[in-house]
Amino acid sequence: FGWFKRGLAKTAGVFGGVLDVLRRKGKVDQAFLDELEKQLYRADLGTTATATIIDRVRQGFRDKEVGEEVSAFVRKQLRDLLASDSPGLAYAASGPTIVMVAGVNGSGKTTSIAKLANRLKKDGKNVAVAACDTFRAAAIEQLTVWAGRIGCDIIKQGQNVQPAAVAHDACEAAKARGYDVLVVDTAGRLHTQTHLMKELEKIHTVVSRQIPGAPHEVLLVLDASNGQNAVVQAEQFSKSVKCSGIILSKLDGSAKGGAVFAIKQKLGLPVKYVGVGEGLDDLEPFDPDAFVAALFD
Ligand code: GDP
Repeated sequence: FGWFKRGLAKTAGVFGGVLDVLRRKGKVDQAFLDELEKQLYRADLGTTATATIIDRVRQGFRDKEVGEEVSAFVRKQLRDLLASDSPGLAYAASGPTIVMVAGVNGSGKTTSIAKLANRLKKDGKNVAVAACDTFRAAAIEQLTVWAGRIGCDIIKQGQNVQPAAVAHDACEAAKARGYDVLVVDTAGRLHTQTHLMKELEKIHTVVSRQIPGAPHEVLLVLDASNGQNAVVQAEQFSKSVKCSGIILSKLDGSAKGGAVFAIKQKLGLPVKYVGVGEGLDDLEPFDPDAFVAALFD
């Protein structure tokens, strides 16, 4: 788990404040709870996740000695907050698996799609990407360059072609060419929220008509350095399209990795992958145990 520790170095730094409180001598009194609350909040857990933990510590340990037991309890609470019943990617039982990827421009969406395609290819999957962010010429070009590097197919058309039309072609290609996984890029920003919502919906509809059970995943890319704003973004996107999980990008450069707790708590969305660098190999499956261990050990 070396990469996880590396990727979490900055977040772990902020979490040091939580650990300091847990190592204090004395009783679990109001002053202790206030300080723990402050430090959890500072570590970007958000109000709800912070309040949940504080309430449980108060109930379980009021007036008891601060020590190993309290520390282990907090650690378990954090671990439980992240527990997911759907770790890893959900694959189609048969036929192509369709993974839609959404996220605002600049979040790291294109890079994350490339990293995911690369990872799947290394796992032996026949993978292709679909360039459905047709509103940005640069997005199509960038994805083309990545596909070349990875050595996977790309399904694309010109700029301003209907994204749903590209998605349609991509699904046809997936069936005809027998792709195991098709990763679909989508628009990152449009004139209005309604417009963006409609385009995402159209892609969703086309994909589900073409391939039963699709999309099998709708992953939302969030920039870890946005902290609590990433949570707000996730809430907005969830109104447009039902997401199944998060790719948390740029964790390596951020001290705000604690936002994963808030995302899970507020939206019930599991973090499926984390981005820990700019290279093709810098995407790792999220592991709640390793995440919490990296903060505590
Ligand atoms: P998009 O506009 O959402 O498609 O964003 P891009 O994929 O083009 O990424 C924006 C910038 O963030 C680029 O410079 C990427 O190299 C960088 N980036 C993306 N993911 C990561 C990551 O996990 N770690 C770091 N350090 N940089 C990243």
